[in-house]
Amino acid sequence: MSETRQPIVYIISAPSGSGKSTLVNELLKLVPDLDFSISYTTRDRRGSEQNGKEYNFVSREQFEEMIRADEFLEHATVFGKHYYGTAKRFLREAAAKGRDLLLDIDVQGAAQIKQKLPDAVSIFVLPPDRKTLEWRLRKRSEDAEDVIQRRLVAASREIENYDKYDYVLINDKLEESVEGLQAIVRSVRLRRSGRALPGEEQRIVSLADGYRLANVRTRVLPILASFGAPSPSARV
Ligand code: ADP
Ligand code: 5GP
Repeated sequence: MSETRQPIVYIISAPSGSGKSTLVNELLKLVPDLDFSISYTTRDRRGSEQNGKEYNFVSREQFEEMIRADEFLEHATVFGKHYYGTAKRFLREAAAKGRDLLLDIDVQGAAQIKQKLPDAVSIFVLPPDRKTLEWRLRKRSEDAEDVIQRRLVAASREIENYDKYDYVLINDKLEESVEGLQAIVRSVRLRRSGRALPGEEQRIVSLADGYRLANVRTRVLPILASFGAPSPSARV
C-alpha cells in the first residue's frame, strides 16, 4: 500500500519589517524538501513582486469566488483592508511530493491553521526592539512615512500575540537567526522521525529548544516594553 506522509506545516508570523521575508528566503535555500505556500491576495503588487512568486494577485471577485468554492485552508482580512488566503492545493501538492510546507501568514491565519491542523508548528519572529524595527522599515525604503508609522502602530498590537506560538525567534543577528530557524525546522523533522538522535542531531534539537516559548519569555519582556505594550501581569 502506498502511503503519503502528511507534510509538516510550519507557520511563520511577524510584524512587518522584522526580517521575516529575509529569513524565509534564506531558510528555503538551506532546507531541502520545503515548499513555500504562495498566498492569494487582493492587494496591489509592490516593487519588484511578481505574480505567482511572492503572491498570487487576484481581484476581490476572484478571491470571493475561491471562498465560495471552499478553496482556502484559511483566509483573513489583513490590516482591515485586503484579503489574504492560503489555498488548500498547496497542502495537497506538498503531500503528493512528500515535502513540508511553509506558510508566511498573519496572526489570524495562524490561529485558523492551528485549529484545523493542531500539529502545525508556529514560529513568531520579533525585532530586537522598536527602534530597530523602525530603522529596518526605513532601510528597506519601500514605504512612505505614513505607512511606516502605521506599520509601527500595527506592530505594537501584533507582538502581543507572541505567546500563542510554539517558538519565538528574536531576529537580532541575521546569521544566528537563520541558524536558529533552520534548527527549529530540522529539529521538528528529527523528533517526528521517531528515531534515536546521534550527537550532531541532538545539538540541533537543543539549539531549537532554546527558541521554545517557555525558554524565551524573559528575553521578550524588554522588547514588549520598548513598544509600550502592557506586561503580561498587567493584562486582563
Ligand atoms: P519583513 O518581511 O518582516 O517585512 P524584511 O525581510 O523585508 O522584513 O526586512 C526588513 C529590512 O531589514 C530589510 O532591509 C532587511 O534586509 C533587513 N533585515 C532583516 N533581518 C535583519 C537583521 N537580522 N539585521 C539587520 N537587518 C535585517
Ligand atoms: P504584506 O502585504 O506586507 O506582504 O503582508 C501583510 C501581512 O499579511 C503579513 O503579516 C503576512 O504574513 C500576511 N499574509 C500573507 N499571506 C497571508 C495569507 O495567506 N493568510 C493570512 N492570514 N495572512 C497572510
